[in-house]
Amino acid sequence: MQNLKVYNSLSGKKEVFKSIEKKFVGIYVCGPTVYNKVHLGNCRTFISFDLIYRYFKHLGYKVRYVRNITDVGHLEDDSENAEDRIIKKARTEKIEPMEVVQLYTVDFHKTLSLFNILPPSIEPSATGHIIEQIEIVKSIIKKGYAYEINGSVYFDVSKFDNSYKYGKLSKRNIEDLISNTRNLDGQSDKKNPHDFALWKKAEPQHIMRWKSPWSDGFPGWHLECTAMSRKYLGEKFDIHGGGLDLKFPHHECEIAQSEAINDGKECVRYWMHSNMLTLNGKKMSKSTGNSILPEEIFNGKNSLFKKEFSPEVVRFFMLQAHYRSILDISEDALLASEKGYKKLCDAISQLSEIETNKETTGFDVTKWISNCYGALNDDFNSPILIAKIFDAVKYINSLNTGIESINKNDFKLLEEKIKFFFHEILGLNLIKSKSKTKENNYIEELINLIIDIRNKARFDNDFETSDKIRDSLLKLGVKLKDSKKGTEFKID
Ligand SMILES: [Zn+2]
Repeated sequence: MQNLKVYNSLSGKKEVFKSIEKKFVGIYVCGPTVYNKVHLGNCRTFISFDLIYRYFKHLGYKVRYVRNITDVGHLEDDSENAEDRIIKKARTEKIEPMEVVQLYTVDFHKTLSLFNILPPSIEPSATGHIIEQIEIVKSIIKKGYAYEINGSVYFDVSKFDNSYKYGKLSKRNIEDLISNTRNLDGQSDKKNPHDFALWKKAEPQHIMRWKSPWSDGFPGWHLECTAMSRKYLGEKFDIHGGGLDLKFPHHECEIAQSEAINDGKECVRYWMHSNMLTLNGKKMSKSTGNSILPEEIFNGKNSLFKKEFSPEVVRFFMLQAHYRSILDISEDALLASEKGYKKLCDAISQLSEIETNKETTGFDVTKWISNCYGALNDDFNSPILIAKIFDAVKYINSLNTGIESINKNDFKLLEEKIKFFFHEILGLNLIKSKSKTKENNYIEELINLIIDIRNKARFDNDFETSDKIRDSLLKLGVKLKDSKKGTEFKID
């Protein structure tokens, strides 16, 4: 099999994947801050890493996939008086912060399972790892890259940059950072505006607080991922992933924290980032109304799309783009995906009806399988994989109409692999046909009546009439298929 290549955001290149430990892969992906319903853009990130997780498992690796839950410390912005997102929600809803966390963690899991996203191996939370985070702060202070002022501890970015290099992931240099960081008119305790908090002293009214050597307070947001990835994956691990918006400052700060403790040694082998999801060509934003929740797409209760779309179709739509490309979601794009998805499901459902022959014509199954793996090995290229699957769908359809034929062994292989890529790698399920409505029953009976009339014409050798009926139905989107079993129809 060809080598798996992974695009490393740190080097900006596709690199041959080589795990640190033989046959073991450690993956850490930044999870959600559970202060509201999960964003569709976040779902795209988790669907992208779900495909990656599934493929590594298929390749025979023992995978430890860690995806955290941020339940403290993620502030609204970088300003000194910024409020913790969870505390703000708790205050406005008049509930406990942990009620906010519970509510939205449950919602997050529910939405991800609708998308058929596999649960990670470990899902640690920030509040469950306060001791580990305090230990990391102590180590960074000991190494000389953090300082305490008035009970808060800050990371000294300039000092770190003098020893090692700050900004290598986001390709920023410290000079740009200094000139671009807002000066907070002396409100801040920080030595430099671009320094970031490792530990914050809690104001008296702050309810989420823990004891530490510096103050009763809470950890800075970037710290949890360093603490939890080190705890579960070690000082250096294979893959660190997340949405592209986390590259700076979050991931850059994680690198600084880890390298400060590791004496500058690399902490992650491959950095992977999934790109943005836009809506109707624009950035998603609640404040401008250009925003939609997964559940609003599934139940159709939204002002943007005229109809509902199933989680399977939305997942398929997302996988039709490569994880590193910007993807725009719109009603037209979802309609096109829905049509394609139905075609795919129909072809897979009809596999059981295919009769094998002595020889295979028009399709090289072995080469097709190798091309499918080629797509996955090229940085998990799901759109190419899907295009290859549609080559097989076209062939399956010509087997159905009798244009092509296939031998038993090739058929077995094709059936097994197309189902495998569809279910196990792309994580898709066949759409269950909707329960028959009265109207559908009526249409079905009407078409069967026309088929009976056509069959009578054929029996009477009146081919002019029977062909006319077949062609007219085709124009209406009703395709007839004659076989030994009788005449069947399909509506496109
Ligand atoms: Zn993180």
